[in-house]
Amino acid sequence: MSEAAAPPVLDRLFARIDAMRDELVALTQDLVRIPTINPPGDAYRPCAELMGERLRASGFAIEYLRAEGALGDSDRYPRTNVVARREGKRPGKTVHFNGHIDVVEAGKGWTVDPFGGEVRGNKLYGRGTCDMKGGIAASMIAVEAILRENIDFAGALEISGTVDEESGGHAGVAWLASKGYFSPPRVDHVIIPEPLNVDRICLGHRGVWWAEVETKGRIAHGSMPFLGVSAIRHMGQFLDRVEERLYPQLLARTTNMPVVPEGARSSTLNFNSIHGGQPEGFDGLPSPCVADSCRLILDRRFLIEETADGVKSEITDLLDELAAELPNFAYSIKDLMVVHPTMTKADAPVVKALDGAIQDILGKKAAHICSPGTYDQKHIARIGNLHDCVAYGPGILDLAHQPDEYVEIDAMIASAKVMAAASLQLLSA
Ligand SMILES: [Zn+2]
Repeated sequence: MSEAAAPPVLDRLFARIDAMRDELVALTQDLVRIPTINPPGDAYRPCAELMGERLRASGFAIEYLRAEGALGDSDRYPRTNVVARREGKRPGKTVHFNGHIDVVEAGKGWTVDPFGGEVRGNKLYGRGTCDMKGGIAASMIAVEAILRENIDFAGALEISGTVDEESGGHAGVAWLASKGYFSPPRVDHVIIPEPLNVDRICLGHRGVWWAEVETKGRIAHGSMPFLGVSAIRHMGQFLDRVEERLYPQLLARTTNMPVVPEGARSSTLNFNSIHGGQPEGFDGLPSPCVADSCRLILDRRFLIEETADGVKSEITDLLDELAAELPNFAYSIKDLMVVHPTMTKADAPVVKALDGAIQDILGKKAAHICSPGTYDQKHIARIGNLHDCVAYGPGILDLAHQPDEYVEIDAMIASAKVMAAASLQLLSA
């Protein structure tokens, strides 16, 4: 630890965070009680204002930024983000905490009110407690504790509440990044308090390729299928090849990224949906036809050691092979989305600062992990071109999107201390 963050200062800081426990719980409850469900993207403005007006009272400069024209934005469902900035007493770097304010629908199976914010012992329940309003509240308490203790820091502290992470982040972090909000010199270090457990630092994530494959046939009477070409049978042949040849290859291909859970250290492929022939949702008797189209949506998660082009050609090679072997086999393929893998270096400043704080506060070595799926770090890396960014925050990842989602209050307190101490370390120059 540097001189500016010598033990007496940290003791005061941690005592302050402990004393703010009730405030932390109340803030998390207030955030959870605003049902920012996405889709469609409800109540973003009041949630952004809850964060912004509270931080304004702590001396932050506040900007509300509606992503007009971005994917998903409309007058009915405005995509309002909030960015708060508080300058230190002298120039220096900026530490930014970014949290997404949207939550997924509650779904079924709850035994408590999903938007009630009920507390039972050490657990605070509700949709978004874990993913990730508990993390947002912990980061706000962390910076407020620094300010209330009047602890000196160089540079600036920023907090943003952004929209639409659950649906790709286009009107949230991606839009802000395109406006320079996630690039040096404005911002240098970013911590995203997603629920990764208090003793783990998430360095990055695997890549994604979504695509639609369509096999094409020729319609004919169902009583004389030999007069047509069945797109469904052709799709079946493609699926057989994937099953026999590609799945074993994907399983054998593993990454050096520390992805959790273990199974996600291999390349994976999920068939998201498949449809051919008679339209779905029609409950009358079918008309007897040979299917002239069959469509499959692929969700391929790829490793940092793979390339998007290589991943795509594995699929098109199988399709081309079938086209060469089988008369009348025709297909088309359409890219739906590509997200490249990203991983922050294990010795990056933000990682080292969190490593040190976790060791000091929790008395254990931080685990470095990567996520099987993507989150907003992709936009900060690719659009913002900022590579000192990780996810770190309270909550158990497995509880995200589940019924009876909760966050542990002790974990919020511990992570607030880690975030505050790491910030001071980064801003001590
Ligand atoms: Zn999340």
